[in-house]
Amino acid sequence: MRIGVLAVQGAFAEHINKLRQLGIEGFEIRKAEDIKEKFDGLILPGGESTSMRKLLNELGLLEPLKAMIKGGMPVFGTCAGMILLAKEISGGGTPCFGTLDITVKRNAYGRQLGSFRCVEKFADREIEMPFIRAPYAVNADENVTVLAEHDNKIVAVRQGSQLAAAFHPELTEDTAVYEYFLEMIGKV
Ligand code: GLN
Repeated sequence: MRIGVLAVQGAFAEHINKLRQLGIEGFEIRKAEDIKEKFDGLILPGGESTSMRKLLNELGLLEPLKAMIKGGMPVFGTCAGMILLAKEISGGGTPCFGTLDITVKRNAYGRQLGSFRCVEKFADREIEMPFIRAPYAVNADENVTVLAEHDNKIVAVRQGSQLAAAFHPELTEDTAVYEYFLEMIGKV
């Protein structure tokens, strides 16, 4: 199994390390050529969603990746990656892939609480969740399954072959969220 990790900006190296720990090959997607060879899943890391959208556009990656996601390529977006997938950004802001039926609020926890860790339920497991200038979903359509909440705010969702988390599972020892994604890939 090969998983492509978008590597134009942000915390991509940590995802590749995590995949390696799980015995999975992760490779960096930096340019259009990198997605020519077959792969089984895509990770969109944390970082700065506006820069990533701009770079995706400039590098000619936005449309081909969007087509792949629409075609059912399993995708996992963390933090900024969740914003890239969202169909709507609260308060304006241009959606990127717009394939996931949620509305996200960027930098949703304000300055004071910009970064924090908590323990919450993800699917049926308790896991540690580091948040870094994170978004949350202010709305999820009926076809979206909510997998985690913090403070009554939606912080992880699944819609078909798309998984998104507002937090950073790559910064914890726990592998539950990756296992969930790998299981999704197996089933898709
Ligand atoms: N605040 C960032 C954004 O809006 C996301 C932060 C992150 O990915 N850690 O793109």
